[in-house]
Amino acid sequence: MSLIIHKELCDGCGACLERCPFGALEIVDGAAAALETCTSCGACVRVCPHKAIELIRKPRKTAPVKIQDYQGVWVFIEQSDGRVGQVSLELLSEGRKLADELQTELAGVLLGDGVEAMARECFAYGADKVYLADDPLYRRYRTDAYTDALVRLIRRYKPAVILYGATNNGRDFAARIAVRINTGLTADCTSLAIDPETKLLMQTRPAFGGNVMATILCPNHRPQMATVRPKVMKIAAPDHGREGEIVRFTGSLSEEKIGTRILDVVRGLGRDVNLEDAEIIVSGGRGIGGPEHYHLIEELAEALGGVAGASRAAVDAGWTPQYRQVGQTGKTVSPRLYIACGISGAIQHLAGMSASETIVAINNDPAAPIFRVATYGLVGDLHVIAPLLTEKIRESRKSAAAETKVGA
Ligand SMILES: Cc1cc2nc3c(=O)[nH]c(=O)nc-3n(C[C@H](O)[C@H](O)[C@H](O)COP(=O)(O)OP(=O)(O)OC[C@H]3O[C@@H](n4cnc5c(N)ncnc54)[C@H](O)[C@@H]3O)c2cc1C
Repeated sequence: MSLIIHKELCDGCGACLERCPFGALEIVDGAAAALETCTSCGACVRVCPHKAIELIRKPRKTAPVKIQDYQGVWVFIEQSDGRVGQVSLELLSEGRKLADELQTELAGVLLGDGVEAMARECFAYGADKVYLADDPLYRRYRTDAYTDALVRLIRRYKPAVILYGATNNGRDFAARIAVRINTGLTADCTSLAIDPETKLLMQTRPAFGGNVMATILCPNHRPQMATVRPKVMKIAAPDHGREGEIVRFTGSLSEEKIGTRILDVVRGLGRDVNLEDAEIIVSGGRGIGGPEHYHLIEELAEALGGVAGASRAAVDAGWTPQYRQVGQTGKTVSPRLYIACGISGAIQHLAGMSASETIVAINNDPAAPIFRVATYGLVGDLHVIAPLLTEKIRESRKSAAAETKVGA
């Protein structure tokens, strides 16, 4: 879509300026003109009394990108409740390696309100620089406010690579930036590398239902952009003595021009089930046989001090909520112990849990593919094995607690 203003019809009445939700129009020499921040949303078209504005359904012509002008690796820093998000620390650690390979600098892009102290954390995890927009406007993520600010920053400093977490906000944000900047985006990457010859970012992600791994390049546009799944990249040890540079920036939108107001933040139930950070996960699949048996999974998880997860089959059947789903379209996890109960081991499930340190599979089919990745396999009926395990673990915990008491 492209916005065309017929200057010969425009009398500069300003009706379009009033209506534009992005403040992306101005009057120049008595006629309306669109700014770079115009999204071609078309809100102005309907209000123009002279039919001077038209929305053309064809791609905007953009000047070819001068690839050599784009340098540096950036990471979008997600923050909430006064803390840098785990995924951002993972991406800084990975970004450091990419930047070293490209012999360029690594920068974090931090937007928020009262977040300057978090820049230090970014330096500790590898950033050389932090672009900081510290303003009440950016207190919480809002697509239009954040997009406006980052687009300005990209146009000014021209990074070669930008990484985002494949979180709800990261996915929303990166897609919007890609369209606005006219570049590509590889979503949900599971590995990143630099091609030694071309120096292009090699962005690898599962494709065709997880049956192949596709490596995607973005040779003709900049920045090269990827979202990366949480828990896929390892966090490097922080160096709290590292120093860096803070570069302040801001967007062009004021509060009145931002189309979203956050009135309240309500914590969803799923927030209490933190699969990604769990050290122990017990997951149930179709083999549990129905929602009335899911308590077997929860009880085993509880006895172990862990969290209950599920396969997509169990979620799709409505036996447990989606926030418990592990796998390609659920959470990627890497606990110390993962117990799969009644889960066959489809590639899409393995994509989310095969990095677990120890995998125990309970399945009544000795040929189930899950046994190929399992450290320990128990062939049998989970309805018998899971409660037995729960009982034994509870007993041994009880006696360990009693022994500690005696010892004290
Ligand atoms: C694009 C796409 C994305 C997907 N994303 C995901 C995802 O994120 N996560 C995911 O899990 N799946 C995902 N899937 C679905 C995936 O392909 C499988 O269909 C799903 O993982 C199967 O779940 P399951 O192992 O619980 O069920 P099944 O494959 O039906 O396996 C059930 C297992 O339970 C065993 N069993 C049965 N009764 C018992 C018993 N009494 N005791 C012990 N064992 C028993 C059986 O032997 C069998 O191995 C995705 C699929 C597609 C196409």
